[in-house]
Amino acid sequence: MFTKIHQHRIGVSVQGREIIAESNFDVAGPIRPANVTLIIGGLHGDEKATVALVATFREACVARQGVRTPLVMIPLANPDGFVANSRYNANRVDLNRNCDLDWQPDCPEPSGPHPWSEPESRAIRDFILAIEPGKVVSLHWALAEIDADGPQSTGLARRMWNAMTPAERAPYRIRVSARQPGQPPDPEGFCPGSFGQWCGYGLRFAGGLRPSMITLELPYDPAAGDRPHPLPEGHLAQLHCRWNENPAAYLAAVQPAVHRMLAAACEYPR
Ligand SMILES: [Zn+2]
Repeated sequence: MFTKIHQHRIGVSVQGREIIAESNFDVAGPIRPANVTLIIGGLHGDEKATVALVATFREACVARQGVRTPLVMIPLANPDGFVANSRYNANRVDLNRNCDLDWQPDCPEPSGPHPWSEPESRAIRDFILAIEPGKVVSLHWALAEIDADGPQSTGLARRMWNAMTPAERAPYRIRVSARQPGQPPDPEGFCPGSFGQWCGYGLRFAGGLRPSMITLELPYDPAAGDRPHPLPEGHLAQLHCRWNENPAAYLAAVQPAVHRMLAAACEYPR
């Protein structure tokens, strides 16, 4: 069980590209398993490694060895942005600012005309409401951290942190939050309308469950040693250069730790 990969179309992008969920159980079937893990790559279309790493995790850890818990992956949440090598979707909206929790019309990144204005955001929201995942991990470049939204997410963040060797942890930090749902946001790391904050603080399923929500921000330079704080100026631009020069080297450096963190998230009971 849980070795066959099912594909399910959850929506269509602005330019008509399919958004596909891949799962190790039939998401359209009559039985909805409890405590599903949802892993998302490519919400920002120019963060190419996030898409590649969800794909390699599927091949190495799900298809070949089997993950023995119910898992859904959306390897490419923003297909138009991926093709255009853009952070935004084809309407030039940041899908990570388009959710309705603390949404703001004029934040530094374009948040859209209103919450959930974009078909990609709505597809992911509606899919999450349908499958009610117990855990959500969304991959991003490149704040180099495990960022837990909501106090219910602290245990999962620690489990992912502990899945790495001390050397693998060096380029990351772990950030957990004591903010309770309904309380005003912490000023540090506050992202109006972000997917992570919507999932971690805004969502509550029937029965009262809130999913554990982790934003896994990959390192900008896996060989740079201990993560500096603050991050160096222009770290994201540096990462794009590094990626353009040699994507395979970047993937090889981060992949073992990322696969272990994702496997630990799948195994985590809740
Ligand atoms: Zn991102």
